[in-house]
Amino acid sequence: MNGRNIVASEFVAGNEANLRAINPATGLLLDGDFVKASETAVNDALMAATIAFKNYRVLHKDKKAAFLNAIADEITNIGEVLVSRASAESGLPLARLQGELGRTTGQLRLFANLVAEGSWVDAVIDTAMPERQPLPRPDIRKMLVPIGPVVVFGASNFPLAFSVAGGDTASALASGCPVIVKAHPAHYGTSALVGEAIVKAVEKTGMPKGVFSLLFDDGYSIGSALVLHPQTKAVTFTGSYHGGMALVKLAQERKQPIPVFVEMGSINPIVLLPNAIKNKAEELAKKYAASITLGAGQFCTNPGLMLAISSAELETFKQVLTDEISKVPSATMLTEGIAKNYAKLSTEITAEDGVELIAASAVKNESLQNQSEARIAYVDAAKFIQNPKLHEEIFGPYSLLVVSKDIAELKKVIAVLEGQLTVTIMADSNELQQYQSLVHQLTDKTGRIILNGVPTGVEVCAAMQHGGPFPATNDSRFTSVGSSAIYRFVRPLAYQDWEQELLPDELKDDNPFGIFRMVNQLLTKDI
Ligand code: NAP
Repeated sequence: MNGRNIVASEFVAGNEANLRAINPATGLLLDGDFVKASETAVNDALMAATIAFKNYRVLHKDKKAAFLNAIADEITNIGEVLVSRASAESGLPLARLQGELGRTTGQLRLFANLVAEGSWVDAVIDTAMPERQPLPRPDIRKMLVPIGPVVVFGASNFPLAFSVAGGDTASALASGCPVIVKAHPAHYGTSALVGEAIVKAVEKTGMPKGVFSLLFDDGYSIGSALVLHPQTKAVTFTGSYHGGMALVKLAQERKQPIPVFVEMGSINPIVLLPNAIKNKAEELAKKYAASITLGAGQFCTNPGLMLAISSAELETFKQVLTDEISKVPSATMLTEGIAKNYAKLSTEITAEDGVELIAASAVKNESLQNQSEARIAYVDAAKFIQNPKLHEEIFGPYSLLVVSKDIAELKKVIAVLEGQLTVTIMADSNELQQYQSLVHQLTDKTGRIILNGVPTGVEVCAAMQHGGPFPATNDSRFTSVGSSAIYRFVRPLAYQDWEQELLPDELKDDNPFGIFRMVNQLLTKDI
């Protein structure tokens, strides 16, 4: 494994190899020395990306697609080694990481197909109307173009799918933007392996070298320098509220403002309407116990809040949930910091007024480190409404059951919730009709609203929305998962009275998307 930083697809020497990866389950150092990046490396990476952008942005779409597919191929070639290293660095089971590997290569191929098909650029053509009175109309043609070098922060909880070659990188490269990745300090080795795979793909497909760089650091200085560099044109981040907002603030201090897309905390409420609880209390309790504890609760869509109305059947739900949670063994968390934070917050919360711990894992893995026990707490609606601390994310296998007296009180609980990535409603059709205003109230709070399901498990497809109102993200108009993620890295550019042969292919008269021209002529016929 090559632990050096990658600047413009070349491994660069540093002063010393001073970073080591840790196995969170054993607390032991893993093999491999990683070099802390210098500020010179930041500047070199951005300058190379700026030069590469000139060619990469106009590269034929088939070549960009071939590059994305080549990255997927190279990652597939090292699949076994990669999954094993990612498991050692994250404490996540091999089977979960094998699935994540498939998602990562699947995302790359999805963006390859999107780019090769081509219509994502939203070409719109309004041809000239020289005879129009009182003034002629010029020929105007518009499409989306890439904005320039993108800085991607690798996330701790998806060492593959939200990291060096994850959805952010795949969508930025697909849009025509070079990428500089800041590796997450929890998985240097996994990041290095994926970085090497991308370098091979750059070489095999003849990409401009500045299209990819990868930098290591164990603090904030390199990340901050990347955000502040004048050639950086956009930033993506998934992690804590404090980390995300620190980067947003940093970007606002720049002379030239840039878009920063941060995904932060979300507690993903589950709303259990009375008939759902009445008809399947036991089934729901089992379903949510599994969802809350999946991957030690370290998913951004983990259901951290369950909202219900008091009833006899809810007592059954509570009892089964308690039994199920007690059977879930404690699990290794991604990092020592995340484990400590979870233990602190999930303990402190039970000291809040009216909060009671009702369930916890009974089985502890004493031989392993950084363990989290699953925990469920209970509070009544009135106490919840009064206490904003209870509305915050506790990252890990934790959920809070909030019980209201009636629908009116449930609506008051919903009113105090902040923006979410997901909201789930468990209900029958009659209830959905009966409580329409509650459903509308919930849709205003979220990017994805799920009916009778679980929020964990995010499908990567064209219709997916993985984003939501603040503080789930800082810009609810965009998604970080699915093919629409590409729209974070583009801007519209209109060509007026441009010569045919100088126009991009997408805007020429014989472009395959000429349908837009006809539609627009119809729309503007009488204007
Ligand atoms: P984090 O602390 O937010 O860090 C994520 C990345 O951003 C790291 O590379 C970190 O660098 C960098 N960073 C953080 N603050 C920065 C700043 N002020 N300036 C420059 N760079 C900065 O997230 P984490 O390490 O993954 O986990 C910590 C907590 O984040 C968790 O306990 C959890 O609450 C939350 N989290 C939430 C989600 C979610 O999807 N909702 C996902 C993951 C984590 P360094 O690590 O080198 O300092």
